[in-house]
Amino acid sequence: MYSTMQDVPLLVSRILRHGSTVHGRSVVTTWTGEAEPQRRTFAEVGARSAQLAHALHEEFGIQREDVLGTLMWNNADHVEAYLAIPSMGAVLHTLNLRLPADQLAWIVNHAADRVVFVNGSLVPLLAPLLPHLESVEHVVVCGPGDRSPLEGVRPQVHEYEELIAGRPTEFDWPELDERAAAALCYTSGTTGDPKGVVYSHRSIYLHSLQVNCTESFGLSASDNLLPVVPMFHVNAWGTPHACFMAGSSMLMPDRFLQPAPLAEMIETERPTIAAAVPTIFQGLLAELDAKPRTVSSLRSVIIGGAACPPTLMRAFEERHGLRVIHAWGMTETSPLGSVAHPPAGATGEEAWAYRFTQGRFPASVEARLAAPGGGYLPWDGTSAGELEVRGPWIAGGYYGGPGAEPLRPDDKFSEDGWLRTGDVGTISPDGFLTLTDRAKDVIKSGGEWISSVELENHLMAHPEVAEAAVVAVPDEKWGERPLATVVLKDGATVGYEDLKAFLAERIARWQLPERWAVIPAVPKTSVGKFDKKVIRRQYADGDLD
Ligand code: ADP
Repeated sequence: MYSTMQDVPLLVSRILRHGSTVHGRSVVTTWTGEAEPQRRTFAEVGARSAQLAHALHEEFGIQREDVLGTLMWNNADHVEAYLAIPSMGAVLHTLNLRLPADQLAWIVNHAADRVVFVNGSLVPLLAPLLPHLESVEHVVVCGPGDRSPLEGVRPQVHEYEELIAGRPTEFDWPELDERAAAALCYTSGTTGDPKGVVYSHRSIYLHSLQVNCTESFGLSASDNLLPVVPMFHVNAWGTPHACFMAGSSMLMPDRFLQPAPLAEMIETERPTIAAAVPTIFQGLLAELDAKPRTVSSLRSVIIGGAACPPTLMRAFEERHGLRVIHAWGMTETSPLGSVAHPPAGATGEEAWAYRFTQGRFPASVEARLAAPGGGYLPWDGTSAGELEVRGPWIAGGYYGGPGAEPLRPDDKFSEDGWLRTGDVGTISPDGFLTLTDRAKDVIKSGGEWISSVELENHLMAHPEVAEAAVVAVPDEKWGERPLATVVLKDGATVGYEDLKAFLAERIARWQLPERWAVIPAVPKTSVGKFDKKVIRRQYADGDLD
């Protein structure tokens, strides 16, 4: 028997239409660093998205499936690209502006971007790349910044505001196949060439619904979300589309991502929820400790993208009344994979213990733990294996290039099509995921595994330690041993022996690192995570105690 329900494709254009009408008065505020931020209502953003689609169609001849890149900060113009490009049937390709130039060029060429939108302030980054970007026909410059590096370049250069001015504010958005490509995002390529994940309209729509559930971020029309996470990092964790669906206003930090302006924009613009990787919030915590601001508008801050140290969560709550919510995800999972809300009835330390985990999976994300020697492990909270997931917003392959089949490397996908996350951890009987490491960061010492994340969390709980990163280094006797690199707080006097004694009270003796290095700062990846590859390279011969 067939159902009797209507079959309406789940499209980004529906999110756009809904947000710009039903929630037309919600606002995208963009921080400008000047007295007044820029403010645009959702109705205005919707109208300008239609104007942009007209311009792309009529001026550039953009067709379905054409790929358009954005090299932009988090701002309202970027939101318009997020809505207009997929809605007209083309593909939004967010470019990570912190990648090395050769990787960026590789990615643009691999995706065959026909157009690149660039913020004025990023023109100096794009201009020298252009001679290497074979497919790019048009560059569209948005917002303030010096345009002179673009003089005499090959692709045609356009001003965003001039391009869209005077065009109709309605667009007849096509009824697309909901499985068609809507957005493309490359992983940062920490191993080998970057890999492109292609999100569909359907996956974005379903993911947005999930982001808005109370057991995820719970966005609503009374919220004002501050996505500090860049729009090139897994589409700002899917929040721009989710906000447009829920009617949640957005506070966009543009290029002002340093702790001081972030604290200032929180105090003056009063967002209700914020999202970022731990290192950003670590900086914000230090800023707030040094110069207290009113941050009470924030009902919660979502921290994900890397393990959030428990000390950071407690510090925010105890010193600034901010509730941190820990979440896990990856580019391949759109990224919402799990969110750590404690179960009903848990209070006090029990609730904290749940909140320190990576959280629970939503109904649409199925999970299993692959045993090291084959087969799958029970959800008993102790058996550790590689996490595999599947679901409607989980990647089933990588972009193979124009006209090519998707790539499904064996180390990334199981035979039956589940995503191998490369993350190692346990799942409790009530479905809470605890990650102990990335498979490639696990320290294999004498046949036993040492969790680098656990050592880091303990070290970062020491009052004189600002940051700590632990990596595996080769060891003749044990195969691998941990090397602890620590960044000390200003004025700290603690030595390796003290740190070791501090750790000895918390972990088994055989896990205690013998190799230590005090370093000026932990090297970070293009999205602000600890860069363990660089740490291994730079500090592998740390001092032996
Ligand atoms: P990259 O591989 O460039 O870091 P992603 O942003 O897709 O790109 O990274 C996803 C990975 O980040 C996950 O596989 C996991 O290892 C790590 N990660 C994300 N969130 C968390 C978290 N809450 N705790 C621990 N690790 C996390």
